[in-house]
Amino acid sequence: MSDKALHIVDLAKRYPTGVEALRGVSIDIEPGEFYGLLGPNGAGKSTLIHCSTGLAQPTGGSIEVFGHDAIHDYTAARQAVGLAPQEINLDHFLTAEETLDFHGGYFGMPKRARRERTEELLETFSLTAKAGDRTRTLSGGMKRRLVLARALMHRPRLLILDEPTAGVDIELRLELWHYVQKINQEGTTILLTTHYLEEAEQLCSRIAFIADGQIAAEGSSDDLAARFGVANLEDAYLALVGRNELSRSRVEGIEEIAL
Ligand code: ADP
Repeated sequence: MSDKALHIVDLAKRYPTGVEALRGVSIDIEPGEFYGLLGPNGAGKSTLIHCSTGLAQPTGGSIEVFGHDAIHDYTAARQAVGLAPQEINLDHFLTAEETLDFHGGYFGMPKRARRERTEELLETFSLTAKAGDRTRTLSGGMKRRLVLARALMHRPRLLILDEPTAGVDIELRLELWHYVQKINQEGTTILLTTHYLEEAEQLCSRIAFIADGQIAAEGSSDDLAARFGVANLEDAYLALVGRNELSRSRVEGIEEIAL
């Protein structure tokens, strides 16, 4: 039994279509870490998240969440994980308060604990005034905050954030960064996927690059830059996807020559 927050060994996922989305992925995330998973579309990030949260069945390897086997001890593993999915999948007919309460009920929280936790989270995410409003009437920013609050309702030790800031404006992005940093500082382990390299740089202590269903490199932002022999995380990412010619330092250099 592992003492890691997430202990993934040699994970494989082959969809019935024959696509091999994961080809021997191994990752260890320590309790309390803020860990980033970066890679191009189709690299296998969602599949890895789905396998870790029981939404997809791996075809090989193993996953443990805080020592609980994600397949054979699914209920305990699932209790340890909160997932804030990329798409805002709120029930439009529930109020903000009901959204949290029902989620708590799904995770077996007693009524009183649900009520207290709901109040606390509405307060934390500045949604108290909207408690009785149906989710469809909330602004985009409020919906994003509610999705995050819902993921935290059952006090998961591992929070998975799947592109939490895709398509949001800069104020909301910074606001969400502030929340997730606070949650991490309070002890929750976080796994983040994002396409925003500056987001990963700002938030994550360790980052894995995934490409074509395999982990290509792992380390701090500086480690990854050094590994690819470049100046920063963005250039390391461009090296990963074989697009070094897009490096901004290179583009600036060319402009200088042209001038
Ligand atoms: P990412 O999240 O990094 O964009 P995905 O995990 O969604 O990558 O996809 C990895 C690969 O698996 C892609 O080739 C994708 O087309 C394929 N894939 C994802 N979901 C399914 C599915 N339900 N059935 C068949 N193939 C899938």
